[in-house]
Amino acid sequence: MPRYAGVLDMGRGILMLKKAIAVVTSGGDSPGMNAAARAVVRTAVYEGVEVYGVHNGYSGMVHDDIEQLTSRSVSDLIQRGGTFLGTARSKSFMTPEGRKVAFENLRKHGIEGLVIIGGDGSLTGGSLMSRETGMPIVGLPGTIDNDVWGMDYTIGCDTACNTIVDAINKLRDTASAHRRIILVEVMGRHSGWLAMMSGIAGGAEYILVPEVAFDLEEISIELQEMYERGKRYSIVVVAEGAGSAIEIGKIIGEKTAIDTRVSVLGHIQRGGSPTVEDRIKASMLGEKAALAVISGVNDVVFSFNEGQVVSVNLFEAVNNKKTLDPELVRLSRVLA
Ligand code: ATP
Repeated sequence: MPRYAGVLDMGRGILMLKKAIAVVTSGGDSPGMNAAARAVVRTAVYEGVEVYGVHNGYSGMVHDDIEQLTSRSVSDLIQRGGTFLGTARSKSFMTPEGRKVAFENLRKHGIEGLVIIGGDGSLTGGSLMSRETGMPIVGLPGTIDNDVWGMDYTIGCDTACNTIVDAINKLRDTASAHRRIILVEVMGRHSGWLAMMSGIAGGAEYILVPEVAFDLEEISIELQEMYERGKRYSIVVVAEGAGSAIEIGKIIGEKTAIDTRVSVLGHIQRGGSPTVEDRIKASMLGEKAALAVISGVNDVVFSFNEGQVVSVNLFEAVNNKKTLDPELVRLSRVLA
């Protein structure tokens, strides 16, 4: 018997209760996606609604790689990084024809609403499908980049920051032993959020991000002066969008004549067991998203902002650019 208790609690009134919904994870994986998908599945089951999982992102939607899930399907998952549904990039979904095929596959299973867990690109694709086909879409920001507009939280960023800070702590030990400068390259092709947050938490001397201009000549002179005054180590965090840490390290090493090493963290930043923050927030957001899509809400992304759950219009979330917080940039300079 359908329960719909949570739906009633949303206070939106019951307009168009759905009998079957689906969940998909898309784009780059991020730790906490599993916790979010698990919450979507278990909430739907609790509400007496059928729930389907789409395997391998939009590619699975286009190729009808869709299966019904039960509460048991999401056992032993909350502590796991990655995504049990799999994820992929799909060229076909970039076209209206591909999105139509994906929509028809969803309808074939009787699916009436979709929860998308993914980054900017995935949410953009979802927003297009929603406009073209009328399929109700609710999004959750699953990305380590923290670059989705209208929110200060994305699922996986906290875990990735902790992974980076753990690496910085270890690199700091060896940098200090050898009086080295160590550059740490972190993810962030277009956004410096991850670098800025982990750099501040890791006590980096410099944080180079794509959004803020920097002068390697000036940085090298300052580093040299620091080492002349007795400094034993320094950490420079480089977002990959700010330039190659290997190239930047070469220049700094030559200009300062101080032993300089580079560590490119790469995909290690995406993996690992999600932190408590990511597990709890992803679980809360997964429940919200499932209840919303069941009750006929469309074109909304749920997340947190300043500690509160927020719902942001999907179109606005994907069409506005989130800028780096100037307060964090200022703080990073004060504390360096
Ligand atoms: P991450 O932030 O981790 O990179 P993402 O969701 O932004 O995640 P993308 O590779 O940009 O990752 O997008 C994932 C998939 O979403 C793409 O493979 C494509 O199928 C779909 N997609 C992305 N951008 C668009 C778009 N502009 N129009 C339609 N579909 C899109």
